[in-house]
Amino acid sequence: MLRRINRWARVKSHPADAVQILTSKLPATYQPIIRPLIQRQSELFGVPQSAFIGGSASSYARSSFPPDEDVIDAEIYAFGSVLIIVCVSESLRLSHERNSEGEIVTTEEKNSTVRVTYAVPFVDDPDVAEFEKLLAEVWGEIELREPSSRSRRLREMAQGKPNTTRLPTEEERDAADALSDKSVRRLAIAIKSSSGLLLGDASKQIPPRERGRIDAIVQLLIDKGLVDTEIVVICRDSSAQVNRVATAEVLNGLDEQGIRCACGRPLSEEKHEKALSVTDFARSMLDGSAWLSVLMLQHLLDFGVPIQSVRMEQEYSGEEVDCVAEIYGRLVLFELKDKEFNLGNAYSFGAKVGIFRPDVPVIVTTEKVGADARDHFARSAVADRRTRRYATEDPVGDGGIKFVEGLDSLKAGIEGIVTEIAGAALAPQLRAALSFSSATPAALLAAWAGVERPPKSE
Ligand SMILES: [Zn+2]
Repeated sequence: MLRRINRWARVKSHPADAVQILTSKLPATYQPIIRPLIQRQSELFGVPQSAFIGGSASSYARSSFPPDEDVIDAEIYAFGSVLIIVCVSESLRLSHERNSEGEIVTTEEKNSTVRVTYAVPFVDDPDVAEFEKLLAEVWGEIELREPSSRSRRLREMAQGKPNTTRLPTEEERDAADALSDKSVRRLAIAIKSSSGLLLGDASKQIPPRERGRIDAIVQLLIDKGLVDTEIVVICRDSSAQVNRVATAEVLNGLDEQGIRCACGRPLSEEKHEKALSVTDFARSMLDGSAWLSVLMLQHLLDFGVPIQSVRMEQEYSGEEVDCVAEIYGRLVLFELKDKEFNLGNAYSFGAKVGIFRPDVPVIVTTEKVGADARDHFARSAVADRRTRRYATEDPVGDGGIKFVEGLDSLKAGIEGIVTEIAGAALAPQLRAALSFSSATPAALLAAWAGVERPPKSE
């Protein structure tokens, strides 16, 4: 499990040695990493620390983060299980305008920012109030805020369609959990497709080794509001089902009113059997495997993906999309199947991947991804690698399709995907900060040339 939390503030200017001052203010529970690394390397190389720090920003080899912004100093703090990355940035913006005399005047605008990134290996928000208070003291009164999450790619894909995704209710979550048991689901589907399944026939709907659980399974379906029971009246002569009533007590009333079976017997004297039928709620959970969507959505929410960044079961560009999420700026397309994922499904999913170009395509199946479907993806991956456009972001995994097979691996599978994306999203900040612990070869060699090697001890 990994989450990224970004906060930033624009400041008028940076105090000299801002990071150094911050480190000295922090209690010992915050372990700085960059400064001790510099110190140790300076000792090992036998060159002064100035070979590592204090150079001009451009003398350090690092990728710019974010684009057009120069990180002029950075530190990483280990605080319990949270990694805190502080990047101090400065950028110059030149603007050219004509003055009243028609001359072009160039003005420089300096943009100074402090960025704090938390790498958090759990779902709850970390307690960083103390850290942010001390940080604010260094720069004067600043207020860190979270960059607004605009879900740009999700909105592009939706082309103005409103997001109808809502939080699952407790009732839906419970029912989805119950239906994630294959035998429970099989029985529910069998009841739905029958017009009232006799209780005596219920056990035939599930695999023989599961039949010992039939009473518990039926009770679970009733408890979760998925199945109702009723009484079926069966004629002792013709064995035909003649009536259905909610409870056996109703039959006594019918006897009194003189209602009888076609054979002449009072209804209470005919054979009675319990029958099962699905509720409207069960239909809504079973149709289109909605229960699987509920499980999927709940796992995404549990791993810190905000509901506004998820869209379930919508149609875009004429394609049915089971689930699409924007996670740390990456578009993740999920295909959900309550059966084996076959070659036909692979072609259809391949078309969606071609249209929507997700960063991470994911197939979730309650069974397996068939060998022919895997072969198809492997063949098209070779073609895809040749045409893949230049990526400006850190890649997530190998760029291939991810498979989550079997409901037992659903939670771990989604956790793995969210963690991998968070890792890729955290990488630029970490790389920018880590680059301050190493000098460029030129700066190091200049220092090396200028210093006497310490004499070796005998
Ligand atoms: Zn009868």
